Amino acid sequence: MACQQFDQVADYLEMPAAQRDRIKYPKRSMIVALPIQLDNGLVRVFSGYRVQHHLTLGPTKGGLRYHPDVALGEVAALAMWMSWKCALTGLPYGGAKGGIACDPRNMSDGELERLTRRFTQEMIPFIGPQVDIMAPDVGTSEQTMAWMMDSYSMHMGYATPSIVTGKPVGIGGSLGRREATGRGVAYLVSRAMDTLGITASQSTAVVQGFGNVGSVAAHSLAKYGVRVIGVSDVKGGVVNLKGLDIEALDQYAREHRTLLGFPGADAISNDDLLTTRCDILVPAAMERQITAANAGRIQCRILAEAANGPTTPEADALIAQKPEIFVIPDILCNAGGVVVSYFEWVQDLQSFFWTESEVMDKLFRILEGAFTQTLALARKEAIPMRLAALSLGVKRVQEGKRLRGLFP
Ligand code: GLU
Repeated sequence: MACQQFDQVADYLEMPAAQRDRIKYPKRSMIVALPIQLDNGLVRVFSGYRVQHHLTLGPTKGGLRYHPDVALGEVAALAMWMSWKCALTGLPYGGAKGGIACDPRNMSDGELERLTRRFTQEMIPFIGPQVDIMAPDVGTSEQTMAWMMDSYSMHMGYATPSIVTGKPVGIGGSLGRREATGRGVAYLVSRAMDTLGITASQSTAVVQGFGNVGSVAAHSLAKYGVRVIGVSDVKGGVVNLKGLDIEALDQYAREHRTLLGFPGADAISNDDLLTTRCDILVPAAMERQITAANAGRIQCRILAEAANGPTTPEADALIAQKPEIFVIPDILCNAGGVVVSYFEWVQDLQSFFWTESEVMDKLFRILEGAFTQTLALARKEAIPMRLAALSLGVKRVQEGKRLRGLFP
């Protein structure tokens, strides 16, 4: 998917073949074997991955994912998307992504801590505050980042908070980082509503995924006055056309570790949830959720891609035939997370910390700029929002490579 999208952009930009290969292929791809002792005394070897896509504009940046499906190809695709996301928002980073093939929901905290520390140790030759900076992604959390920060700091001999972002605030994390992705999604949705002349208080939203991104996006949309009528997690969804009480849902999800059985709502499958009629559809879970099989049945005005890669290129082609759907593409829609990660890294490097409102002001200013530029290009060239966003990102990397030249 990432390569297909890149080829489309390269065609659109009429990029010469030699440049395409230079920009497309990841610079460094690592696979490490991670033996750890399980709680039952046995030793198991997990596979860990890290892909650093390009090193042209600064250190590489991107999340670390714990999920059974993690593989080198997936991580490479996510790293490439991080490159375009960072370039679109003007951050001085290349893209990266990492992951460990494991099922964190069936592992104890002790096992997860040993796995995280072992991975950090194996990555030491390839990471650093000026080399590659990790952050949370699917299946990882502030706690994961705290263990990474500690393992790296013990190796260096002094506290090095700038080695990761998305840490707890108590050890150098930034105020607002946890909420940044979801709040950014809601901000961009509100900008899209302004553009289309949709009134928040008369609109409805459906959110797929109730992790850090989906739950905060649901909360923030509700604050803008939107009625959230459906949400789901891995186990399934709940729907109530009159609107869900997101606060109560949060509480329920924390207590029961599922949304299923939430009182005052009906159960709904993930597929039915995605095709529920609504104004704003927010896929905030995994990639490849909107496919050729369901894209034709999607009934929304705004598709806000909070996840990375939720829409396949085949689905994109079907959505393009429905001009009534306004797409906020993933590399723009979920960029709030990495933007505040950048602020966290800057604060750590300077040991000078900002208030939450300073963080949010600066975040919304960057998102506003990226949204305005993407929309302006899409309109001027009559191209889809995704192609506009990707081409802005790719062009900045291309320009960086041109200015630096080919070494030696
Ligand atoms: N994992 C997030 C993403 O996909 C955040 C990356 C970061 O903060 O470095 O954008």
